[in-house]
Amino acid sequence: MANLLVLPGDGIGPEVTTQARRVLEAVASRHGLELSFEEDLIGGSSIDARGTPLADEALERARGSRGVLLGAVGGPKWDAMPVDVRPEKGLLRLRKELGLFANLRPAAVFPALVGASTLRREVVEGIDLLVVRELTGGIYFGEPRGEALVDGRREARNTMVYDEVEIARIARVAFEAARRRRQLVTSVHKANVLEVSQLWTTVVEEVAKEYDDVRLEHQLVDSMAMLLLKEPRRYDVVVTGNLFGDILSDEAAMITGSLGMLPSASLGEGGIGLYEPVHGSAPDIAGRDAANPLAAILSAAMLLEHSLDAPEAANAVRTAVAGVLDTGARTADLAAAGESSIGCCEMGDRVLAKLAAA
Ligand code: NAD
Repeated sequence: MANLLVLPGDGIGPEVTTQARRVLEAVASRHGLELSFEEDLIGGSSIDARGTPLADEALERARGSRGVLLGAVGGPKWDAMPVDVRPEKGLLRLRKELGLFANLRPAAVFPALVGASTLRREVVEGIDLLVVRELTGGIYFGEPRGEALVDGRREARNTMVYDEVEIARIARVAFEAARRRRQLVTSVHKANVLEVSQLWTTVVEEVAKEYDDVRLEHQLVDSMAMLLLKEPRRYDVVVTGNLFGDILSDEAAMITGSLGMLPSASLGEGGIGLYEPVHGSAPDIAGRDAANPLAAILSAAMLLEHSLDAPEAANAVRTAVAGVLDTGARTADLAAAGESSIGCCEMGDRVLAKLAAA
């Protein structure tokens, strides 16, 4: 029996995680997986009920689970609160306490949605890449950091630092993922300028020796920013540090064109993972059954793959989503001008129907 924790959060979070949970339950029964679910609070809803964005008991539940499915946190109701008790603090605490060092962001274009990209159809068709970003090290966390007055001038510094253990473990996540995909890892760095990137490249090459079935190539981050727009289809797994990954994962995601379709996974040492849509709590449409649940449903597919080692079940979910989109079903965010749309629950129903018909 695998325990899963659902943290619906705020805004549209409860609406989209409800649909994702239904899909997990359906796919579990078809693929012989035994799942049990718990639910708890995070973000603004937790502040309202318990005075903290993530209570210790919710954290303990997360620790005792195989995977956490999260909706989104935040909203205007809590925007004026002191920074320390804001909804996002709950998410940051969860990521830190679970030691989630690897962030996985797929950017794949469903055939039915090729037109949603700002890039030309022939560039976008068939994109299926995965950005693996190091999440707990690099320049966002390095010491020393801060601002000081030096010789009468204000000066600020941050430090980019990685050790070999941090580099090797994120590299392994990338190679393992590539093994299940098209066996290509592109390591992105700035080794022509940065010593950190030189060590990065050396260690990634050392790890590559454990994976002789996977091809490794290197790319400078500035070139990569261009190549992602020029020939995104040629990439499979792109592994990089925290700063470069922050930027490139957003670039790759936007190539696909639709925020409501983007899933993510953050993985830690013990196999535990946090799965959440890339989008936020969308307070402008919350409570109206207007949200697109597919990013949450695709996040559930990542949970099946990475925390439950059930790639076939994960593929069944992705195939069902693609099938529903092929029929022309669209939530409002995906519908073209003049096209009719369906609600969040109806989209969930359609995915379940496709799964049942497979
Ligand atoms: P957002 O992603 O919530 O919304 C941006 C726009 O996209 C909105 O117009 C929204 O209606 C639309 N949208 C987003 N997801 C959608 C979906 N599934 N279906 C249909 N439309 C969708 O970003 P924002 O408006 O900048 O932030 C709103 C709140 O969410 C803020 O409080 C912010 O802090 C929070 N936020 C949370 C997370 C997270 O929990 N990981 C991430 C980003 C933003």
